[in-house]
Amino acid sequence: MKDKLDALEICPKCGSDACYKTPLNENKNRYTCFGCGFYTTDLMVQGEFDFESYEETLPELFKDMKTSDHNGNVWYPMTINLPEKGTVFPMGKSISDWEWASVRVKEVSDEEKEKFKIPGSKESYNYKTDMSTLQKYNRNDFIEALDYIGFFE
Ligand SMILES: [Zn+2]
Repeated sequence: MKDKLDALEICPKCGSDACYKTPLNENKNRYTCFGCGFYTTDLMVQGEFDFESYEETLPELFKDMKTSDHNGNVWYPMTINLPEKGTVFPMGKSISDWEWASVRVKEVSDEEKEKFKIPGSKESYNYKTDMSTLQKYNRNDFIEALDYIGFFE
């Protein structure tokens, strides 16, 4: 993670200096902002991208929260899922009523292994979401929400 954080630049959406740029191909990039918790790509431009298809599988809240920057790029909130650590996702009813939710995992015990079989496999998951650890974070505290699940460790 430390290496990744060296490639940070200014986020065109929120203005923080925690926007991480990763190449999609030779001239298109993906932008993942740890400041606001949103992402976009150079393909996700108003009038050029098929947002309808893209949004087919997105929860209503994510569609409600999407926003454009001054370049016409469309940003969506992120869901971060680290199977051995936890998940960070936006939780709420609408654009005016949401927070970042952060939830840790715990180890699946030997007795529970049967219950947590990986579909189509003899193996079981080693970790499960532990909802008792759920913490909510302010909209500006995406990094704190990531830190809670040990994202930067
Ligand atoms: Zn941002």
